[in-house]
Amino acid sequence: MHSVKVFCLFIVSAWLAATGAAQVQSIGIAGDGEFTRITITSESSMRPDIFLRETVDGMVIEMVPETFRLGAEPFFAEPTGGIYAYTLDTDRVVFELDRPMMVMREIDLPPSGSEGLYRYILDLSGVSETRFRNAARRDEKRFARFEAARSGAPIEPEPIEMAETVPLTQPESPSAKPATIGALMQMAARSRRVIVIDPGHGGRDPGALAIIGGKESDIVLKTSLKLKQMIEQDPRYVVRLTRETDVYVEHEDRVTKARNWGADLFISVHADAAGAPTVSGASVYTISTRGEARIEGTARKFGWDLPIEDGTSIEVSNILQDLTLRETKSNSSIFAEFLVPELGKAGPLVRNSHRQGNLFVLLAPDVPAVLVEIGFLTNREDARRLKSERGRRKSAEAIKRAIDAYFDRQDLILATN
Ligand SMILES: [Zn+2]
Repeated sequence: MHSVKVFCLFIVSAWLAATGAAQVQSIGIAGDGEFTRITITSESSMRPDIFLRETVDGMVIEMVPETFRLGAEPFFAEPTGGIYAYTLDTDRVVFELDRPMMVMREIDLPPSGSEGLYRYILDLSGVSETRFRNAARRDEKRFARFEAARSGAPIEPEPIEMAETVPLTQPESPSAKPATIGALMQMAARSRRVIVIDPGHGGRDPGALAIIGGKESDIVLKTSLKLKQMIEQDPRYVVRLTRETDVYVEHEDRVTKARNWGADLFISVHADAAGAPTVSGASVYTISTRGEARIEGTARKFGWDLPIEDGTSIEVSNILQDLTLRETKSNSSIFAEFLVPELGKAGPLVRNSHRQGNLFVLLAPDVPAVLVEIGFLTNREDARRLKSERGRRKSAEAIKRAIDAYFDRQDLILATN
């Protein structure tokens, strides 16, 4: 078990003078080092400056809020996920890392609900040592300038000195701990996930034609509407469709819509066609390596900008972009791996049912996405299944179960060390 180092310099005058200072109520840490989330709740917005640094203590992430003081009974989570200790100073929090990680995302949330607390979320992602080092070197000057400006004198920054060490013991009482951690985990998890369902084709583009009559655009729309109905009944999600009627929607508009809605998951629903009528079964596509090579250019063309702060250097932007792409790709694959066996319960699967394709609707750089072919319209049995009310329900249920499994897993990662 790691110990929490909490260094407190009780310079009372300074702390109390800072009226309106962000009163920190809790610090939560969750994740596995590959992806780690720090969540800090406070009574007002902290608006911190973040620095990656290499110090005598090793690699650290230093967070200096505009103003900062501790609440009456703050809760500190045990360090985990690549953070082996963290220290509180009078004006900052220093997270000590046991592996190189960088900030992937910073989220500053205003209070919502009865809790009335601001939440500051820092998502970290594992990177190579070289990357960390380069970033830390860049942050060095910024840090020096920052410290000089803060002290009001153009001096070289000195390592932070800790006057007194107060070891913070974890709450022992079983009644106190689960409640607090539970609350933290709720904070860490986004309240409602946005699922975007994309019924393929539509309007002047009917897609494949079924051997028993009917067109792909209609069949996948009905399945998508059924799926929408099921997801809607689950309070954990918000669901949107890129089309709800028989209209044509450009490929880029499907992706743009999903991004504008803040999609956490994008599922394009199609039905397959083959020359041989014997070919049947469902399959799931994620982006191929060739498709991946298109992402950057396509994103630039259609203005799918990543939420990277203005003024971020090109080098850091590139790193953040890499991290986002990697996370998106891995999440897409994880969802596909959940989806395939579920589809197998609803009907046959094709061989190698998780496939890679160079498909335009899978090109969003920051939304995990799959394209599911729910079966072959050129196969009589598949076509019957896909057109029937029962078959439709089974396909939709399979996708819904995979959505649940995928987000349950995400919650679990955030909730466990
Ligand atoms: Zn299609």
